[in-house]
Amino acid sequence: RAFNFCAGPAALPEEVLKQVQAELLDWQGKGLSVMEMSHRGSDFIALAAEAEQDLRDLLHVPNNYKVLFLQGGASQQFAQIPLNLMRDDQKADYIETGIWARKAIEEAARYGAVNVAGSGKVYNFFAVPGQNEWKLSKDAAYVHYTSNETIGGVEFDWIPEVGDVPLVVDMSSDILSRPVDVSKFGVIYAGAQKNIGPSGLVVTIIREDLLGKERSDCPTMLNYKVAADNDSMYNTPPTFSWYLAGLVFKWLKKQGGLEGMKKVNQQKQELLYGYIDSTEFYNNPISQTSRSWMNVPFRLIDERLDKLFLEKAEKNNFLNLKGHRSVGGMRASIYNAVGLEAVQALVAFMKEFEREHG
Ligand code: PLP
Repeated sequence: RAFNFCAGPAALPEEVLKQVQAELLDWQGKGLSVMEMSHRGSDFIALAAEAEQDLRDLLHVPNNYKVLFLQGGASQQFAQIPLNLMRDDQKADYIETGIWARKAIEEAARYGAVNVAGSGKVYNFFAVPGQNEWKLSKDAAYVHYTSNETIGGVEFDWIPEVGDVPLVVDMSSDILSRPVDVSKFGVIYAGAQKNIGPSGLVVTIIREDLLGKERSDCPTMLNYKVAADNDSMYNTPPTFSWYLAGLVFKWLKKQGGLEGMKKVNQQKQELLYGYIDSTEFYNNPISQTSRSWMNVPFRLIDERLDKLFLEKAEKNNFLNLKGHRSVGGMRASIYNAVGLEAVQALVAFMKEFEREHG
C-alpha cells in the first residue's frame, strides 16, 4: 500500500481494512454485511453500543456526557452548535485561528451575534492567540474554538479556561491523537474522516445539561436532544461508518489507547519538524508552540521545484503531499493510521530530494 498523507479522507489502519474485507460478505457468520443489516436489529444495536463504549473508554468520557454518532460532517456542526446552544438574544464567542474557525464563525453569524474574542490574524495565523489576548464576552452562550487547523497546521496544546461558559471545540483533525480532559468541555465534535473512520459521520460529545436548549426553529434532525433521546437513531444512522469507526476504536485500544498514540505521534512530529528545521531547503513557518502534530505544512524554499517534488513523491508511493489550494506548498498529514515508519520513509525521501536538488 501507498504511504498516504492525505488531510482527509485520510489513511485508515491496514488491519482495520483487512477486517472489513474479511467481514464484508459475512459478518460474524450471519451471512450478510453490516451495510445490509437493520439498525433496529439486536446485532447492530449491540455493535453500535460497543463502539460507543470503546470511544468512551479511550477518551474517559464522564457519565454526564452523551456520545452522538451524527451525519453531515463537521460542517453541519457549524450550524448545529448555534441552533442548539444560542438563543436569538444571545451571543457566542469564537476564536479565529484559520480557515476552519472562520467557516464556523460565518455559519454561527447566520443565527446570532458572534464576537470574535481572539484571533491569530496578528500572527498571520502562524500561531494561536494566547488566552491573555482574548476578549471574552461576559454573557456568551458558549466559547468556540478549533483545536487543530487542518489547513494552516496550527494546534492548541492547551485547553482554554472559560469559567462556567460552555467550551465548544471542533476537534475534527486532532481527536484521539493524544489524551484530552473531556470534562473541560461542553461540546466536542469531530468529523470522522481523519482519526475516526469514513467521511460523512461526525461524532459529538455533549454535556447533558446542554441538551434541550435548542431554538424553536431548530430542525428535528439537528436537535441534539432528539439525537440523544434516540441513541443517535432518530432516523437511519450511517451504519457502516459507525461499524468501521468501532473497528478503529478497537485498533486504538490495541495500540495502548491514547497514551500509546501520544507516544508515537510525538515521535512522528519531532522527526518531521526536526528535519525540516535542520535544513535551509525546506521550511515550516508555524510558531514552535502552535505546531500541529497532525498536519505539517512545509515549503520548498525554491518553489520552482514543487512540481518535481510532487511527481517524484508520487512515483515513490508518497501520496497527497500537495498543500491545500489556499496555502500552496506541501502538507503532510500524519494522523494516527500513518505510522512512524511512514514518516521515517518520508524524511528519507525528502533528504534524498534535497541531496539531488539542493
Ligand atoms: N473542521 C476541521 C478542523 C476540518 O479539518 C474539516 C474538514 O475536513 C471540517 C471542519 C469540515 O469537515 P466536513 O468536511 O466533515 O464537514
